[in-house]
Amino acid sequence: MAINITRRDLLKLAGGSVLGFLFTPVPWKTLDDLAIWTQTGPWVPKLPQGEPATRFSACPLCPAACGVRARCLGGQPVSLTGVAGHPLSHGGLCPLGLAAHHLAYHPQRVVQPLRLTRAHGQLQTTPLTLEQALAEIAPVLAEAKSSGEYVAVLDQQPGRMLSQRYQQFLGLFPRAAYLGNDGGEGATLTTLQSLCEQPYGPLGLDLENTATLLSFGAPLLEGWGTPGHINHLRRLQAENGNDRRLQLIQIEARQSRTALQSDTWLPIKPGSETALALGLAQVLISESWCDRRRLQQRADDFQCDGGRSFCDLVADFTPARVAAITGLHAEIIVATARQAAQHAPAIALGGSDPGAGPLGTMAELAIASLNVLLDSVGVTGGIVPRRALPVGEELQSAAALPITNIADLPERSVRVLFLDAAQSGYALPWQLLERKLIPETGCVISLSPYLTGLAQHANYVIPAPAPFEALQEGVTPGGAAVASFTISPPLLAAPATVVEPAELLNHLAAALALNWTSFTAADLLRQRVAALQQASRGRVFTFPEEQWQEVAAVGSAEQLWEIFASGACWQDETTPAARLPRLRLLGKSSENFERLRTAGASPPALQNQTAGSLLLLPFGWRGAVGNGQVSPVLSKIYQESGLHELANHAYLNPATGRSHGLESDGPALLQTPAGNLRVQLHLDRAVPPGVVQVAVAPLPNGSTNELNENVLALCALQADGTWRLTPAQVAKV
Ligand code: SF4
Repeated sequence: MAINITRRDLLKLAGGSVLGFLFTPVPWKTLDDLAIWTQTGPWVPKLPQGEPATRFSACPLCPAACGVRARCLGGQPVSLTGVAGHPLSHGGLCPLGLAAHHLAYHPQRVVQPLRLTRAHGQLQTTPLTLEQALAEIAPVLAEAKSSGEYVAVLDQQPGRMLSQRYQQFLGLFPRAAYLGNDGGEGATLTTLQSLCEQPYGPLGLDLENTATLLSFGAPLLEGWGTPGHINHLRRLQAENGNDRRLQLIQIEARQSRTALQSDTWLPIKPGSETALALGLAQVLISESWCDRRRLQQRADDFQCDGGRSFCDLVADFTPARVAAITGLHAEIIVATARQAAQHAPAIALGGSDPGAGPLGTMAELAIASLNVLLDSVGVTGGIVPRRALPVGEELQSAAALPITNIADLPERSVRVLFLDAAQSGYALPWQLLERKLIPETGCVISLSPYLTGLAQHANYVIPAPAPFEALQEGVTPGGAAVASFTISPPLLAAPATVVEPAELLNHLAAALALNWTSFTAADLLRQRVAALQQASRGRVFTFPEEQWQEVAAVGSAEQLWEIFASGACWQDETTPAARLPRLRLLGKSSENFERLRTAGASPPALQNQTAGSLLLLPFGWRGAVGNGQVSPVLSKIYQESGLHELANHAYLNPATGRSHGLESDGPALLQTPAGNLRVQLHLDRAVPPGVVQVAVAPLPNGSTNELNENVLALCALQADGTWRLTPAQVAKV
C-alpha cells in the first residue's frame, strides 16, 4: 500500500518536535521567537539547577482543575504532566495546561497596578503603587454607592469562595450586579432549572450512564468539561463490551473536531438549532415517544386551551418544514428523534462553540425542553441533581445574590465594573460589556496578571497572581454529575507586588469604611475545607499516593487542610435521582411562545441579511479564546502543525470564494457594519457554502491585541447577548 506523506503531515511532525521542548527545562530559552520572553522583566528565571523533585498541584487555568504532576529542578517547575488515575482529568492535561508553568513569564505580564488611557487607538499605561491605585478607585466606588449607580463584578468562574466574597462585597452597595459568563457548559442545565416552578438544582450530567448524547454544538471532544472525559467514557465502554455504548450525535454547522469524531454529524445551516430542537420535539410528540399523560401532569403548558401550549408550538415544526430550515433531510430528523427515544437515556445538550459564544436563550429553552420530553431529567444516565459545595457559615448568606445575565443588565447603568480574569474558556466581546457602562464616567477595574484580552479595555489593572503563584481553588466543572473541589498549591514564587483579588476587596472595604471582615485567600480556602470536614461528605483522592480517603475518616479540619496542601481532589457522593418539580416548558415569560416561534422560523440575526453577503461565523478552541494568555511554545505548535487555527485566519469554501471573486489564499479584508479587519484568507472545502469562518485565538507570539485585531469586535450583538451570526463581506487586498 502506498503511503502518502503530505506537507501537513510533515508540519505535524515539526509540531511534535516543538512539543518535546515542553518537557525540557529550557523551552523558552531555546526558541528564537521566544527571545522577547527572556528579555523582559527581572522575574524571568535563570535556567534552574539542583535536585530533581516532583510536586503536585491542580491546573488553575479553567474550571476543570486537572491534576498536575510537576517535575521540578531546584524548586522550579520545568514540565507538567497529568496525574494518572485522577477522578476528573484521568491523567490528561490540555495543551494550554501542559505549558501553564510558562505563563508567569508572559510578555504582557503585569506586576504592578496600571492606569490605562487610550489616545488615537493606542493604549498608554501609567504604573501606580497600590496605594495610588486605591486612592483613585475608592472615590469612584464611593460615588457609585451614594448615587445608587450599579457596581458590578464579572466572575468567569462562579462557585469559588472568592465568588462568595464578590457577592458579599456587592451586597454593601445599593445597586449591584453579579455577572457570569453564562454561555458556557452549564447553559442547558441553568435553563432547565429556570423552567421549574420551585427552586431545583444544581444539576449535572450523568455521562457515565448515558446512552445517547445529542450535542447542539458543544465541543465535547475538544476539552469540554475535563479534557478527554468523553473519550475516556467511550474507551471504557468499548473495553467492557458495553452494548449501551455512548452514541454521540453532533449537531453543528461547522466541521469541528467533535463533529468529525462523533458517531453521527448533522451539519445544519448556521443558526437553525432552535428549529431542529422544536422539530425533534414535534416527532417525539406526534409519534407518541413521550408519555403525554405524565407530561400533562408535570408541565402546565404542555397542552392547554388557547392554542399557545408547547404542543401547539411544535405542531408547526413538522419534519418537512424543519428540513427546509435546517438543510437536513426530513427522514434524518425523524430518525434522530427516534434514536434518542429508543437508545435511552438520552441527553440533549447545548452550550456551543467557545468562540461563537452562547446559542441564545430560545435555542437553550428548546433544548432544555427536549430533555423533559425524553424523560431524561432526574434519572440515572440523564440530568441529575447535584449537591452544592459546602460553604463556611460566615459566607453562606452571601450566596443569595443570583448571577445576572449580562444581556439583562440595563444599558448605560454601570459605574464600576470589576473584571475577575478567571477563565471561563468562552469568548466574551468587549462591546457586550461596554454598552452596560455609563458613558464617560464608567470605570473598569481588571484583576488580571496580564494586559491581554478584556484587561486592555480597563481603566485600571490590578496585578493578580499568575497561574501556580498562589493558592487557588478549583470548583465543580460545568456539567459534572457530582460536586468536586481542588486546591492548587503554588509551584512558583509570586512577585511581591501582586495583589490577591480577596486582598483588594479588603483594601477597598477599608478605604470606604464598609462593614467588612477581612479574610485572605488562604483564610477563605480554609473555611471551605472546614465546611467540607464538618459536612463529612465524600472522599478525597490524594495525588502522590493516588488513593482515596473518606472525609468522615479525617479527624479534623486541620488534617484535611494538610491533605489538600500537598495536592488532592475531593469528590462528593452521588445523590439519589429526583424527578423535576412542576415546570413550564415554554419558560416563565408569556412572550416565549412567539419568541420561540420566530427564533425557530428564522434566527433574528439573519432577518436583515442582504442578498450576496456572507455569514461571519467566529469559532475558537476552549482556553485560547478567553484572556489571551497562551504560551508562545503552544502558539508555535499551532503554527507549525495546524492543530489549531491562529487569530484572524478566515476560511471560505472554494465555491463561495469563486462566486465572490476570491480565487486563492492570501490577505483579505473582512467587513461588517461594525468595522473592518485584515485577515489571512484560506479556501477550504470543509467550510459550509455562504459562510466565512474566522478563528478567535491568540496571535502567534501567544498574546492578543484586543484593541485593534479582534474578530469579535466585528460581530453583531443581539438583544440576548449572542454574536454567533453576522452578515459580512470579504474582499481581496
Ligand atoms: S482543561 Fe483547564 S484545568 Fe485542565 S489542563 Fe486545560 S486549562 Fe488546565
